[in-house]
Amino acid sequence: MSAASSSKQNATLVVFERDLRIADQKALLEAANTGPIVAAYCLDTPLKALLGGAQKWWLHQSLASLDAGLEGYGGRLILLSGNDRAVTLIAFCKANSILNVSWTSRNDMFSGHQSRDSDSILAEKLRDAGLTVSIYPGQLLHQPAAIRTGSGGPFRVYTPFWRVVAPSLENVKADAAPEKIVFAEVPGGETLAAWQLMPTKPDWSGTLADAWQPGQTGAHHNLAAFIEGALTGYDEDRNRPDKAGTSRLSAHLAFGEISPAQVVEAALKHRGKVPDNDLETFLKEIVWREFSYHLLYQKPGLATENFNASFDRFPWGSDNTALKAWQAGQTGYPIVDAGMRQLYQTGWMHNRVRMIVASFLTKHLLLDWRDGERWFWDTLVDADAASNAAGWQWVSGSGADASPYFRIFNPILQAEKFDPKGDYVRKYVPELAKMRAPFIHKPWEAPDMELISAGVRMGNTYPRPIVDHGKARIRALDAYKALKDPL
Ligand code: FAD
Repeated sequence: MSAASSSKQNATLVVFERDLRIADQKALLEAANTGPIVAAYCLDTPLKALLGGAQKWWLHQSLASLDAGLEGYGGRLILLSGNDRAVTLIAFCKANSILNVSWTSRNDMFSGHQSRDSDSILAEKLRDAGLTVSIYPGQLLHQPAAIRTGSGGPFRVYTPFWRVVAPSLENVKADAAPEKIVFAEVPGGETLAAWQLMPTKPDWSGTLADAWQPGQTGAHHNLAAFIEGALTGYDEDRNRPDKAGTSRLSAHLAFGEISPAQVVEAALKHRGKVPDNDLETFLKEIVWREFSYHLLYQKPGLATENFNASFDRFPWGSDNTALKAWQAGQTGYPIVDAGMRQLYQTGWMHNRVRMIVASFLTKHLLLDWRDGERWFWDTLVDADAASNAAGWQWVSGSGADASPYFRIFNPILQAEKFDPKGDYVRKYVPELAKMRAPFIHKPWEAPDMELISAGVRMGNTYPRPIVDHGKARIRALDAYKALKDPL
């Protein structure tokens, strides 16, 4: 380590959270401007238990990338673990005579997924141990509690939330990376390999590695490519899973490898160079992420509890065979199966298809949205405590500003509209690759000659639909009526 300092007493322990970046990282910048630092990541036992498989894979890569970035400043990332975060951090500070600790606010600590100390509880424990604690914003554009309606309450509906947030986007300014960082030398730290975040037996990570480059470099590459390319046309093309019409920034944002401020600032610099409607629609999506955190802040149990309590009476079914078919992409509805296979293979699914598969699970199969939320949580690289829970509750109808339950996506019409040639299905459901549109979206209706020439044997090479769309729709509406009826 070239730039080590001997004074640890005035050093700050910067604990990285979901902010695995060096630029626009206030906790790091402020500490680096004040004196020597120790950069650390702490994988406590509850946090490790919480992470899904795809997130673990991403975290491994992202920490390696952050470590390499810090190495460029002459330092390294210290890896810490332990059963209790507060105990681990206090012990580390004591052992190294460190008196100051800082981090970026961890807004996901509200999540019903976890039993972890919130920012304020953790800070209190550290302060009780004699440490000075500083917590900085940055994971979001606005702290969830800061956005208020005219009467001072929180928002439940997106559009008025957007109207309040939109003007502030003009003033968004991302910080540069620190010019230099002085690292206090500390012994030890663990190795990434010892954390065993990478899958083994089977190692399914090859397909993820083909699809993604975790870390800041990959994040900024995606941002630049999107702004130069798909931002023009985004308003329409974002709905097309057969096109590369979106930014693919979600996992980078979820791990904080890029900040929302960096994304907004870069997009707004292109005002005048891209159509206004495309720019505005993109900013609205970034603000949906903010809105999801605003909901999570109001309902800490968002991942497990209906936002709309009347859904507590909803008669969800419990068909494990159907759930397994959905998870495996074997429902017999090609657009649903393509989405679920894209998810499993790449750790990501197109937003339009997320809505289709979520609607299919909760309405066609009448299965609880929490089953879907958990599966997404385990398999998405961008799994996010707020956006995942809010997305599922929005589709199922139980959310704050939800799509009404009686709006049931027709998977065939959706596929014909948003994947008109069937290219998306063809890519992820190769057994249908030789089928032509429109039959590729409803192979059970294809004439025998069509099936024969495409090499498809229904019920053999590709499953027949596990439910009939028309009947499933009526069943879902009946279930919804039962919910509406007074007890
Ligand atoms: P773009 O279209 O390029 O959008 C830019 C950014 O805006 C995204 O990276 C994301 O951070 C944000 N964003 C876009 N749409 C939404 C939205 N509807 N809600 C919140 N933020 C949004 N997104 C997650 O990041 N993590 C999740 O776990 C997640 N789970 C979802 C579950 C369901 C059932 C649904 C319907 C949506 C979910 N989303 C989730 C939202 C959305 O599908 C993804 O953010 C988007 O597909 C990511 O692709 P992108 O980065 O190319 O998006």
